[in-house]
Amino acid sequence: MLCPVCDTEMIILEFNMIEIDFCTLCGGVWLDEGELELLLSPENGNCAAVSGIISDLKKCTVTGGARKCPVCRKKMVPVELSTKPPVEIDKCPRNHGLWFDKGELEQVMASSGANGRISDFLKSVFRNK
Ligand SMILES: [Zn+2]
Ligand SMILES: [Zn+2]
Repeated sequence: MLCPVCDTEMIILEFNMIEIDFCTLCGGVWLDEGELELLLSPENGNCAAVSGIISDLKKCTVTGGARKCPVCRKKMVPVELSTKPPVEIDKCPRNHGLWFDKGELEQVMASSGANGRISDFLKSVFRNK
């Protein structure tokens, strides 16, 4: 899959059986539909308080984001997550998945009480590069 920002091929990382597309150029992360829920699920050591974040994904405001979904090439729509501070991510209007700019996924995970698991994981990825 191509990075929606850089248009280069992303690499696939595996985290707890979840495939994450990662751009080594810009540090962005693409999650297929449902993967954020998996990442934030209690089975992965995360608290259940994130259901509010997930439901926020349904309320999208179309303001014409410039990024295109790597699956269908439709323009993605910005979605604001009610984390503290709020994080704005991009979402495919056809629900193929979510795009996180560098650091945004970590912010979401951190404010959901995810204890830095994913950020440790992403840091380890950067260390290996
Ligand atoms: Zn990129
Ligand atoms: Zn799409």
